[in-house]
Amino acid sequence: MRTLVWFRRDLRTDDNTALSHACAASDDGLVAVFVASPGEWSAHDDAPVKVDFWLRNLRVLGEALARLNIPLKIVTAPTPRGVAPALLGVARECGCGALFFNHEYEVNEAARDDAVRRHFEKHGLIVRGYHDRAVLAPDALRTGAGGCYTVFSPYRRSWVKAVLERGVEVRPAPGRQRKLDVRPDPVPERVEGFESPVDPALWPAGEGAARARLELFCRQRIQGYKADRDTPALDATSRLSPYLAAGVISPRRCLEAARACNGGRLDDGAGSNPGAVQWISELVWREFYQQVLVGFPRVCMHRAFRPATDRIRWAEDEDGFGRWCEGRTGVPIVDAAMRQLRATGWMHNRLRMVAASYLTKDLFIDWRRGERFFMQHLVDGDLGSNNGGWQWSASTGTDAAPYFRIFNPVSQSRRCDPEGLFIRRWVPELSAVEGDAIHDPSELPGLLRATLEYPAPIVDHGAARERVLAAFKALDDRAAAR
Ligand SMILES: Cc1cc2nc3c(=O)[nH]c(=O)nc-3n(C[C@H](O)[C@H](O)[C@H](O)COP(=O)(O)OP(=O)(O)OC[C@H]3O[C@@H](n4cnc5c(N)ncnc54)[C@H](O)[C@@H]3O)c2cc1C
Repeated sequence: MRTLVWFRRDLRTDDNTALSHACAASDDGLVAVFVASPGEWSAHDDAPVKVDFWLRNLRVLGEALARLNIPLKIVTAPTPRGVAPALLGVARECGCGALFFNHEYEVNEAARDDAVRRHFEKHGLIVRGYHDRAVLAPDALRTGAGGCYTVFSPYRRSWVKAVLERGVEVRPAPGRQRKLDVRPDPVPERVEGFESPVDPALWPAGEGAARARLELFCRQRIQGYKADRDTPALDATSRLSPYLAAGVISPRRCLEAARACNGGRLDDGAGSNPGAVQWISELVWREFYQQVLVGFPRVCMHRAFRPATDRIRWAEDEDGFGRWCEGRTGVPIVDAAMRQLRATGWMHNRLRMVAASYLTKDLFIDWRRGERFFMQHLVDGDLGSNNGGWQWSASTGTDAAPYFRIFNPVSQSRRCDPEGLFIRRWVPELSAVEGDAIHDPSELPGLLRATLEYPAPIVDHGAARERVLAAFKALDDRAAAR
């Protein structure tokens, strides 16, 4: 039988579960397919920089597949409803009797895949789906009470135990397949409406680029990762998130590489590498949020993880939102972060937390608006991690701490960018500001302050803190009165 392999956010040949199984199951060759779905991408706020990254990776993947005698077909389905017939059309045209793919876990994607499955089976074709996106499938771990984990630390402990017990299978890229008389399609250079403003050289495409990034990180940075990861000026993290989000590298490969830096262990122990242990924890955060998405599908539908917080009446502040988006809030670290996002499609993790906390706590603007703006600009935009990060920062999500975790952005700035190097890189209006004033130029004497072409803070942190505390307390009071 000949098999059709549907590539989505798993744009690689190495350690690709569906591709591996398809090769094993087929005795008459393989055809690969990618569905360009601009309507779905728009509906999901996929950023132009991310779509451009997908297309560039798809081109490299097409070449790698061609070397394996697997032709890559490209079909366009303007809406999700068109995906099933488009795929069936390719299967028929290429003589395939089966469709293999790796699961996607978001509500809409899962519904689309169910529709594809029903359509194919109705027409007598075989369909096989595989868990691939995470080291452990999102339903692999259960709490003692049989539910989904809602707190990270116990999830992490259980994850480590399970991985040690079950092991991790990494599947190398398959060998050459039977040559077929099927012509591959060219990958489009761009898709209308998704023209990226970001320099593509920042995010080189392909499995080789991803692997090189992982190797460099393990060689040079993982040792200092625990100490340096919260300092954005140092470039101390892996920047592998776009590659993991698009599936250009597998989480299992990342885990194995980090483990090798930690003497084969997953956790602390004699002689362990604290940087590698910490980095493995970050990979687990990614899996934690994926299982939250599956366990609590309401988070895919713009609903809060903590339902009571859906009653908060967030501020309608168009000016504040616009200034936050543009990086003109008058808080240098927030503005630097937002400008990094717009210019590169990526933002450092500590700054994502600071920017998200500022929007939701200082400006008291609905986390959904920030989540959407991030998604529209991130090269690594991923519903699970983005929604999880936003809801954690807004105190509507899985943070185990109570709602009074309110970042002071200026204190955060002093901690994570002590010399103001990151701020000066991204906010050139402040490059001449010396010393501690870089974190809060409103402290400068009036005359000096007036020479800067930089706005005064648009909100007073102390007053904003009182407002958000009162709003969350009112929720608690309401719950207690019931
Ligand atoms: C408000 C907010 C929004 C976010 N949105 C996204 C998003 O859309 N896509 C995304 O991949 N990550 C998101 N994150 C998580 C994190 O900021 C990024 O994964 C990280 O900055 C990527 O940089 P890196 O690859 O250098 O990470 P490293 O520090 O090198 O970490 C390695 C990998 O672990 C994973 N990871 C690290 N931190 C986290 C985390 N806190 N949550 C989940 N996974 C993590 C990523 O896959 C990352 O590539 C968000 C965090 C916050 C607070």
